[in-house]
Amino acid sequence: MSAETEDCLFCKIVAGQLPADVVATSERSIAFRDIDPQAPVHCLVVPREHHGDVAVLAAADPALLADMVALADEVAGDLADGQYRLIFNSGPRAGQSVFHVHGHVISGKQLGWTPA
Ligand code: AMP
Repeated sequence: MSAETEDCLFCKIVAGQLPADVVATSERSIAFRDIDPQAPVHCLVVPREHHGDVAVLAAADPALLADMVALADEVAGDLADGQYRLIFNSGPRAGQSVFHVHGHVISGKQLGWTPA
């Protein structure tokens, strides 16, 4: 691990150094249940490679972002009815607390719209 990633929570989950309830994987991404779920289905989709946020990832490797979206779609299809919200918090004021890009897959009920 590099200096950037050795203290990264999600790098440790990807590496198997911390436990997670993994629900789906691809070659380049993993999905696991959020430890503090906000909906009946609340999973995080995470690239195996460390990138800080979604814009950094999109600029560096758009195919990897597409891989994450495909895995999110798979998770929502497997665990719910295939309809879902995919949220990327970017920056602390937007609610980002883990600085390894992750998409929140929110599903399993009729969702309201109170994003702010
Ligand atoms: P964010 O606030 O957008 O950066 O999202 C980080 C998410 O990671 C939060 O929803 C946390 O509940 C979740 N989280 C933190 N630690 C863990 C963990 N060890 N396993 C699963 N989810 C976690």
